[in-house]
Amino acid sequence: MPNTKQILALNRFDERDAADLDAELESLFARRQAAFGASSVLFYQRPIRMVRAEGVWMFDADGRKYLDVYNNVASVGHCHPRVVKAIAKQAATLNTNTRYLYDNIHDYAERLLKTYPARLSNIVFTCTGSESNDLALRLTKSFTGGSGFIVTETAYHGNTEAVTAVSPSSFKTRSVPPHVRTVPAPDHYRHPTNDLGARFAEDVANAIADLERNGVKFGGLLVDSIFSSDGIYTDPPGFLKQAVDTVHAAGGLFISDEVQPGFGRTGSGMWGFERHGIEPDIVTMGKPMGNGFPVAGVVTRPEILDSLCETTGYFNTFGGNPVAAAAGLAVLDVIEDEGLIENAKEVGRYFRAELHELKGRHPGIGDIRGAGLFIGIEFSLPGTNEPDPATASYLINALKERGILIGAAGAYGNVLKVRPPLCFARDNADFFIETLNAVLRDRPAGSAELVSLQQQAHHGPKGPKTRG
Ligand code: PMP
Repeated sequence: MPNTKQILALNRFDERDAADLDAELESLFARRQAAFGASSVLFYQRPIRMVRAEGVWMFDADGRKYLDVYNNVASVGHCHPRVVKAIAKQAATLNTNTRYLYDNIHDYAERLLKTYPARLSNIVFTCTGSESNDLALRLTKSFTGGSGFIVTETAYHGNTEAVTAVSPSSFKTRSVPPHVRTVPAPDHYRHPTNDLGARFAEDVANAIADLERNGVKFGGLLVDSIFSSDGIYTDPPGFLKQAVDTVHAAGGLFISDEVQPGFGRTGSGMWGFERHGIEPDIVTMGKPMGNGFPVAGVVTRPEILDSLCETTGYFNTFGGNPVAAAAGLAVLDVIEDEGLIENAKEVGRYFRAELHELKGRHPGIGDIRGAGLFIGIEFSLPGTNEPDPATASYLINALKERGILIGAAGAYGNVLKVRPPLCFARDNADFFIETLNAVLRDRPAGSAELVSLQQQAHHGPKGPKTRG
């Protein structure tokens, strides 16, 4: 198997290539490096200077247009006029910290809570997915008294100290700390089984037992209900149920991270957990919530929130401010009025069928999976299920040259992640299919090996992963 850390570095611009950029890009890059230092990460072998975006399209400084199949931030479409108008109107009227009474936050909270099972009746607003997951960890600890958490092997849940500890995909050198256990992703393709749910639940049960054996009381299981960074695992619907029952039987809580699948992306309701027929104890939301405006939140049962508020409480200066509420309400309006959940279902179904057809023509496509408008295209060495990250890396850059933006996921970075704005149409899917077909067909022999060897020769096997 390829080395995961080395492979994920392939999708990222490397500063040692800066001399190959034209003068203007090189100068912008130098300013960025000077200000942001080692934390700066850019996509692509040749980074893009973006200037504007609209719907499913993004435009660079040279006027080149790109089809965005990467973004779940601008989830209802880039610069959606209704969201932009709502933000501007509210910003011109009132924006403040969140300790006053103002009307729109209540409308927003009530509308969101209506999309949840009745027992999940409290909401806390935050600004990012990371803050939401950080709060979810605190709630779990205060309610259960347990500090042990279980996550999947290539999970990403955010960037705070506590959340990084449960985000193994962030680690370059360290391994998970003593209060965390990982379980394998529910990978049906590379490790087929007749009962994925039973196997996943068994892995969770073993992890709980191992925590307790080592004197760590179990707190909860935290998963992204579409397993985005693990490589996108959606089927069969319902496979999470047994694991959730196992967690509850052990006195723990189940946290569903809906930062990726939430807000209609799966095409079957608002939330990814609904596909599994389960009721989480805590749900975390982020990214698509404000269509680019930082809005995020946590939904839970009152008794769980009470347990934290008895000790420390929670205050977030910007979480759920009036402008955030206006953005969030406009996003809900657009999802409803433009039928975006139905669109995700219909276009997603069509898109996957076309991709299956393409798979028949290209033996390097090992698997197609997904739900709604979140699709994974897994590349394997032809005739095997050995991960082929060099091809995924080649494709990311080659597709960009032909006007399509896409990223990779999975432990080996060999799964192309198709996650466009939800207003994506059939003709956008057709353009993607035609272009992917052409890039695969026209690929020079040995090009994948070349990408890998060039990068290794230049830079050696190191570098941070990219995610998002
Ligand atoms: N959870 C998941 C599943 C994510 O993918 C991300 C971000 N990629 C986060 C949480 C963190 O969200 P944010 O970057 O808004 O803090």
